[in-house]
Amino acid sequence: MTDLLRELCEAMGVSGEEGEVRDLILKHIRDHVEDIRIDPMGNVLAVKRGTGQVGLRVMAAAHMDEVGLMVMGFDSDGTLRFKEVGGLDARILPGTRVLVGSEKVPGVVSWVPPHLNQAEETVPIDRLRIDIGAASKEAAQNGIERGDRIAFASTFTELGPTVRSKALDDRAGCASLIKLVQGDPFPFDLHVAFTVQEEVGLRGAKVAAQRIQPEVAFVLETTACHDLPQDPDEPDQTTITALGGGPAITVMDRSMISDPRLVRHLVAVAEREGIPHQFRSPQHAGGTDAGAIHKTGIGVPSAVVATPCRYLHGPHSIMSLSDWENQAALLRTAWMALTLSVLER
Ligand SMILES: [Zn+2]
Repeated sequence: MTDLLRELCEAMGVSGEEGEVRDLILKHIRDHVEDIRIDPMGNVLAVKRGTGQVGLRVMAAAHMDEVGLMVMGFDSDGTLRFKEVGGLDARILPGTRVLVGSEKVPGVVSWVPPHLNQAEETVPIDRLRIDIGAASKEAAQNGIERGDRIAFASTFTELGPTVRSKALDDRAGCASLIKLVQGDPFPFDLHVAFTVQEEVGLRGAKVAAQRIQPEVAFVLETTACHDLPQDPDEPDQTTITALGGGPAITVMDRSMISDPRLVRHLVAVAEREGIPHQFRSPQHAGGTDAGAIHKTGIGVPSAVVATPCRYLHGPHSIMSLSDWENQAALLRTAWMALTLSVLER
């Protein structure tokens, strides 16, 4: 199953240019769903038929896009000006390897070597450049255009019980949702949405939910994990989730409060089946597609199950494989046990 994750993570899908990821997802779900379509925004929508025992319109969403950069212009020396797409920290960019545009031209974000760097300051993003080895503006423009997306150049690597990759956010969620779609039918029809443009404001999910009009929604995500150092003498007050602690159930983030009935259901099935799980610490920022979905139509009870990732939105995030496998296991179990009584007040 890590082959599927690798394939998805290594594809390029910076917000607004999710086509490469979309093609892979279509390939993997096509034989397992009905009513498959690409909506006007670029979301992949499909229905996995259920056994019909439970009459609920259930939506499950994972976002296809990843944070990255966009070409803004060309300098006479052959370097590229750029801008961030989604939430990126400029401090991590200098020295980072990137791939530019559909031709995937390799480059590196400029940086000042230690011999010269006396300032110890963070260079603002508008003063950084991407060096693709071109000697002139004309050479740089060969195969690259303004507006082209730029992704981190990072290979997917297994490191013991973890994996290291770019774009685990949210290809890990996409891979989990693909596995769930490929598995046994649920008691209800599952309306799946692989969404675009989450990283720039939950935009694809908004229109996907408008079309699906779900009565319940689940979002498969990754979430920040800041669990180091773990030395007991250095308590880290900012811990949000812990790697290896199981998939994280969101209670509240900046974009939504999870429906408490769904949270109770998720916790109950996890405890009954012995599936590791944790709560995502609620005092932190961050939002997910659920932030858009739960406010659609007359309102949609929603919940988020997220795999913790260290170094999120960077070129090399680290995720526990068991946390990721348990994301799908927890949702599979919760969906098999989902009844109308779960939503009784
Ligand atoms: Zn995400």
